[in-house]
Amino acid sequence: MSVALDLFVEAARAVSIEEAAGALNLQFTKKRHEHPQPCPACGGKDCFSFNTQKNVWNCRGAAVGGKDAIGMAAHVNGLDAHRRPEFLEACALVTGLPVPDEAGQESETDRAARLQRLEQQRLENERRQVERQNASFDFRAREQAQARGIWERAAVFAQAPIVRIYLERRLNKPLPKGIRLHLRQATSQTYWHGRDERGFATEIHCGPAMIGVFLDAGGLPIGCHITWIDLKRRPKFRPTLGRDEKGKELPAKKMRGSKKGGLIPVFGEARARRWIVGEGIETVTAVAWAEEFRPDTFYCAAGDLGNLTGPPARAGRYKHPTLTKTNKNGRRIPVMVASPFPDPARLQDGFPIMPHVRECVLLGERDSEPEATASAMARGKGRIEMLAPNCTAAIAWPPGGRGDFCELVCEGMG
Ligand SMILES: [Zn+2]
Repeated sequence: MSVALDLFVEAARAVSIEEAAGALNLQFTKKRHEHPQPCPACGGKDCFSFNTQKNVWNCRGAAVGGKDAIGMAAHVNGLDAHRRPEFLEACALVTGLPVPDEAGQESETDRAARLQRLEQQRLENERRQVERQNASFDFRAREQAQARGIWERAAVFAQAPIVRIYLERRLNKPLPKGIRLHLRQATSQTYWHGRDERGFATEIHCGPAMIGVFLDAGGLPIGCHITWIDLKRRPKFRPTLGRDEKGKELPAKKMRGSKKGGLIPVFGEARARRWIVGEGIETVTAVAWAEEFRPDTFYCAAGDLGNLTGPPARAGRYKHPTLTKTNKNGRRIPVMVASPFPDPARLQDGFPIMPHVRECVLLGERDSEPEATASAMARGKGRIEMLAPNCTAAIAWPPGGRGDFCELVCEGMG
């Protein structure tokens, strides 16, 4: 090798991962050191990553990586660093310098062949990604159709005596005569869990159930919420369904189809300017009962806390004031609480709030860790204020240390 060539290669070896990433037009994310992204050569959502602090790069798609910028440049450009001309080409990419003359550069034909290989790889990866996406769309569409079927087959509230009695027992109060809740009754709803030795889903219970529907922002059904009922079993009047493989009690509630971005109407019309939104159907019904089913209000449930509050922003995570846990190395570290601020890029990932709403009350529940729940509720309030600037949002907590508004109504007010 000539002196000029030695110097050229040495210059390339001295380039850091950070400098090379800039020269190669790789993306720098908002994170400080780690920058995940699709691999320019292999595709994938965050298959490729480089770390400017550790001075390393890695591609999970091709299972390659290392500490040198030349290798990184070769990989993202489909160059084979074991072949001399391509290695030198990679050196040129990281330094931005031309390869010194006598080196026997990559010939025009080699270069064309390489670029074609790279293009083929890209097309193949794209095709695979579309295939994976279609498979998940198909699955979601099937689930949504199933959920719509369950909702459509169920009897409307006027013909839902078991659902009515269930709610009256949970609230320990009679519901007004002739009230029309947007809840339905399935007389014999199967509870599937696990598979038998032939691989078929196993029916472990079949009985009456309360059915709520998840509507999206356009009012279309996207999922359903099923609560199995056992009117003889106090205090929650839901059946015991045994335990799962890990010994956890099976929940008597299930959701089918999609819930994210949807809401379960309980009473009233979505066009109302005042909305009351809680996690569970029972809690929302309890508040509606206590307010005597205000005709100017839409009462609805989000199904769970995540859909009630939307996802947290990355910024704003904080240390729990008291709780700690033990990490892998046996050290006590504080538990982190998710941000009280909503993720501005994912405001749609919670129940839909419409621009005509002027007042929205979120109902708090105290069945999980208080600090995390309080942070989540604050985030939910902030999300509504961002989505509907004309809407005043508020959080209501059940008084007197009760778990939820259902208990409050059940035990008697005050
Ligand atoms: Zn790659």
